[in-house]
Amino acid sequence: MSKIVVVGSYVVDLMSRTPHLPKPGETVLGGPFKMGPGGKGGNQVTAAARCGSDVTFVTKLGDDLFGREALKHFITENVNTQFIKIDPGQATGAALIAVDDRSENSIVVSLGACGTITEADVLEAEEEIKEADIVLLQLETSIEAVVSSIKLACDNGIPIILNPAPFQKFPEDILYNVHYITPNETEAFELSGVEVTDEGTALAAARKIHEMGVGTVIITMGSKGAFLYNGKEKGELVPGFKVEAVDTTGAGDAFNGGFAFGLSKGLPVRDAMIFGQAVAALSVTKIGTAPAMPYEHEIKDFLA
Ligand code: ATP
Repeated sequence: MSKIVVVGSYVVDLMSRTPHLPKPGETVLGGPFKMGPGGKGGNQVTAAARCGSDVTFVTKLGDDLFGREALKHFITENVNTQFIKIDPGQATGAALIAVDDRSENSIVVSLGACGTITEADVLEAEEEIKEADIVLLQLETSIEAVVSSIKLACDNGIPIILNPAPFQKFPEDILYNVHYITPNETEAFELSGVEVTDEGTALAAARKIHEMGVGTVIITMGSKGAFLYNGKEKGELVPGFKVEAVDTTGAGDAFNGGFAFGLSKGLPVRDAMIFGQAVAALSVTKIGTAPAMPYEHEIKDFLA
């Protein structure tokens, strides 16, 4: 079984459908409300676990109802919860999500406990990280957690995927130790200063990000697919799968979980990307984030 360690965020998703996203000061009468597990870390953990990986999650929860529900979720998903810590002084993270009739979303995230992961918390999982096939990171937690995870994985020769989402500033020299970076178009702009709208601008952005020290750059471009650049060729826009999208929230997380699974299984990077895109395409056909992640058999049927 492939082994993946994810260090990152857990937040409970509190999601309302709405005819349109509220403007500042406006109250909108929404449609159905749903609550479920989320957070970029939690979503990517769920996606990778449902693909069939042995996943360890390093995160922090509050000592509250949302935290207890989160633990139940990860146990049900067969995730190793040994390094999920409870911080009695913090609330469990929460995301307030509105999704409109066109599937556009607007999100406010309060990280709470998972925003305070320290180097010491990461070091507790040292043995797991040493044995991992892949370490998967996002920027939805403390930069201390991200930097120390990269250092630990790098010292032990473990490949790292950094999903730089949501974008926040970090010490750029860490990128020399990152094997794969997976920004979306917005994050690619934040990193490179190049607005990504098509294949040409994706290449320009990817070149700049590659020059910052990363091995392979993958820019996810929504329904268009994902752009692959490893510095040696002209890069390639690998098209996404055509599906009927009902909620694209968490598509990037589904991609990263699936991509990590593919790499951990030894797939070449382009094939791992196609696998990740299949996981993401299936996820957008369902409402929600973690609950929308497809299971192994669904992915197999989709790709058959
Ligand atoms: P989010 O922030 O909503 O989680 P994101 O902006 O990080 O998403 P995207 O670039 O929108 O990520 O999507 C990631 C991948 O998901 C894409 O590369 C693509 O493979 C797949 N995807 C996204 N939207 C669609 C869609 N409408 N149809 C099919 N595949 C999609």
